[in-house]
Amino acid sequence: MIEVTDLKFEYGDGGRKENSDSPFSLQVSRLSVTAGTSAAVVGPSGSGKTTLLHLLSGILIPGSGSIAIGEFHPAGESDSARRRHRLRNIGMVFQNFELIEYLSVLDNVLLPCRIDTSIPLTPELRDRARELLSHCGLEHLVRRNITQLSQGEQQRVAICRALLTSPALILADEPTGNLDPTTSQQIMNLLLNSVRDQGATLVMVTHDHSLLNQFDQTIDFLQFLSSPNARQESQQ
Ligand code: ADP
Ligand code: MG
Repeated sequence: MIEVTDLKFEYGDGGRKENSDSPFSLQVSRLSVTAGTSAAVVGPSGSGKTTLLHLLSGILIPGSGSIAIGEFHPAGESDSARRRHRLRNIGMVFQNFELIEYLSVLDNVLLPCRIDTSIPLTPELRDRARELLSHCGLEHLVRRNITQLSQGEQQRVAICRALLTSPALILADEPTGNLDPTTSQQIMNLLLNSVRDQGATLVMVTHDHSLLNQFDQTIDFLQFLSSPNARQESQQ
């Protein structure tokens, strides 16, 4: 499903780090995730995990190297083709949720239908939205405004939205970061069920090492840090 080869990416001028002249750069010689499997992504803060998810989703484009998502090569496609591909095939759980504040919980989960008219808002999809929310323990909050939710509740709304269309690829950025261990495991079950029952591919960034044994593979970003000094610093 995912094949990354000789990837190089560097942020533009906006990416200059404090006390440093050089922008952040990410190099990944090879990364592969088989369709229908799950991969955890771990590594120190600032090592480029979110950047990688944005590259895989086609939000960012690599400077060189290749990324293939199945038959789709984001770098060779237009902005609109990448956006379309993202909406139809990828469920993204953003680290900062990216929820729409003026919409209710239910309308946030149904957002993919508003954005992409080729995803019709059927009664079945409405039912699925409610089912997902109830699976996440949010059934009593469907009409609530997003601004009136805790961080953990917002995070679960973002997860429901990502799973609404049963996407082939789920990219989840620390989706259990704000949750207690029990809720965190519920979310893990929901994500892993998508892999097991629907054949989805899951790439999930996490700092919670107790979850790692539930994944088919773990991708450690320490291997991508460019200098041995950076590796040592981040291990201390
Ligand atoms: P992680 O998710 O592993 O914590 P990120 O991918 O968010 O790391 O960030 C990696 C590095 O890229 C950091 O040094 C960060 O400051 C920088 N960075 C992240 N987003 C941007 C951006 N939009 N523009 C410039 N630099 C960025
Ligand atoms: Mg991050």
